[in-house]
Amino acid sequence: MAADGYTGKVLRVDLTNEKISTEPLNKEWAKQYVGGKGLGAKYLFEELKPGTDPLSPDNILSVWTGPLVGTLVPLTSRYVIVTKSPLTGTFLDSYAGGFFGPEIKYSGFDGLIITGKAPKPVYLWLDDGKAEIRDAKNIWGKDTYATEEIVRKETGQKMARVASIGPAGEHVGLISSVTNDLTRNAGRGGTGAVFGSKNLKAIAAKGSLGVEVPDMDGLLKMAKEMIRTDVVDNPDHAGMITDGTPILVEMSNDAGILPTRNWNDGTFDGHEGINSEAIKSRVFVRKRACFDCALACGTWAKVRRGIFKDSASEGPEYETLGLCGSNCGIKDVEAVVKFVEECDREGLDSISTGNAVAMAMELYEKGVLSKDDFGGLDMRFGNAEAYVKMPAMIARRQNIGALLADGTKRAAQKIGKGAEEMVVAVKGMEYPAYDPRGSIGMALAYATSDRGACHLRAWPVANDAYGSQDPWNPEGKAATCVEDQTRTSIKWSFIFCDFYGVSFPNMAKYYSAVTGNPSSEEHLRSLGRRIWNLTRAFNVREGFARKDDTLPEKMAKSPLRSGKTQGKSVSKESFEMMLSEYYSLWGWDSDGKPTKETLETVGLGDIVPRLSYLR
Ligand code: SF4
Repeated sequence: MAADGYTGKVLRVDLTNEKISTEPLNKEWAKQYVGGKGLGAKYLFEELKPGTDPLSPDNILSVWTGPLVGTLVPLTSRYVIVTKSPLTGTFLDSYAGGFFGPEIKYSGFDGLIITGKAPKPVYLWLDDGKAEIRDAKNIWGKDTYATEEIVRKETGQKMARVASIGPAGEHVGLISSVTNDLTRNAGRGGTGAVFGSKNLKAIAAKGSLGVEVPDMDGLLKMAKEMIRTDVVDNPDHAGMITDGTPILVEMSNDAGILPTRNWNDGTFDGHEGINSEAIKSRVFVRKRACFDCALACGTWAKVRRGIFKDSASEGPEYETLGLCGSNCGIKDVEAVVKFVEECDREGLDSISTGNAVAMAMELYEKGVLSKDDFGGLDMRFGNAEAYVKMPAMIARRQNIGALLADGTKRAAQKIGKGAEEMVVAVKGMEYPAYDPRGSIGMALAYATSDRGACHLRAWPVANDAYGSQDPWNPEGKAATCVEDQTRTSIKWSFIFCDFYGVSFPNMAKYYSAVTGNPSSEEHLRSLGRRIWNLTRAFNVREGFARKDDTLPEKMAKSPLRSGKTQGKSVSKESFEMMLSEYYSLWGWDSDGKPTKETLETVGLGDIVPRLSYLR
């Protein structure tokens, strides 16, 4: 093993033929794409046939770590699932923290590339450089909590780390997730459905192999200093450390961007029942941390009284509070804790599930859906007792859950009767919890994200709705999105935790210390630009273009009703102006396609011959 942060090995698994092999990591690609998002995108672009059905055996399901994962540098414990999304049809990268990422590395692999479909349910067991396909008959049908427990017993490894699907993934629901360490989810885009379509119930890992870097003591000393200045002593992070993301509930409500009752409002009359104070005073048990992270931004929450007594989950974090709380009209954090526990057990993405339940509630209140569609439940906004039954109904495709399991866009198309006007999604992926009618920069961020509506590629809301910029002035928003997408492309390739606002110069220091190669801000910027252009090229090759970089009609046609955003909508003129400027800043044509010159400039000249629109 070279002392460069990589194990140097990739595992290939062909589930159809039950074949396993190991090959050297393509080090040239590692240099050009680092790891995580970048490396996953490169392998996917090179190996996936354009037009592949994401749920077919031919889709590639890959799992990647980054060069920092497992090195004991804090806030680098993540892994990423890279595949073609069955929810959106786009490139998909979905991340989770916890302990599973480092365990893959300690098992001896930088990445896993899984193809085919097993003839019967199986799970993959990784153990110190060895891999085995095992029968999953004892865990198929079980929720993710039970699956983790049974796999540990079967493998005889109490500390094995398990990433699994619940009933939602087994039923190939397109909003299903992959869950590890009970509560951490690679949630977005239908990762669970790709597992389910391959009859793959879980991946479990236990390893004792190390990760080598040129100077481990020097790296840890440097990391300790940088984490102190960048995070621990950084006043911008203070609230995040004490309260975690729930601090955003009040900030969003004040700014008028808190999703409320299926995006019909941006302020919520019950916000005090789901904010960070409610969590701290009513359900907080203890802090919870990922592998080797002293920040411990997570909380373990448990309901102490009432009808949901003894329900427990991590968090809930802001996206969940917004989408499974206010967006469903739920005023009690206890109900949200129960709902999140159900989502984790069933293996559902809480962002998409919250959106799906909120849309179903609006359809129920408008008389499009009836009690019969919900198995007799009264599904009005705010009815917590009924709403907590929805995750299981969706995961197991029961009643209306059979349609909601595939996300709001497909469900609304089948329901008809005006339901499509209530969908709040981009490219079929449901919105995170920031209403762009109070942050026009987020409108552009959602429309241009490479995996559908996403807050983890660009986050202009920090400067407008939460900051001092005018949230409705489109000026400068395109440049912010380009800058953020460049930075996050490289950040998700290392893979840093979301909450580490690491700068380019500091990422360059980490890169040099881990790989032993020289780096600089400009070096990493050039890699970030290359990676973002590669995922765009992937999506263009799949048929995506300007016509798809759009927002739901509701954003332009339905102004918000109260608070700071009362009367506000997203102006189509402003949006199109931002979009054109954005394409031009990236060096793409007016249809949003990277030009030959741009691809050559960012080091992607080799893919030009494989893009039909450039021939
Ligand atoms: S800051 Fe929070 S999410 Fe990030 S690594 Fe630490 S505990 Fe995990």
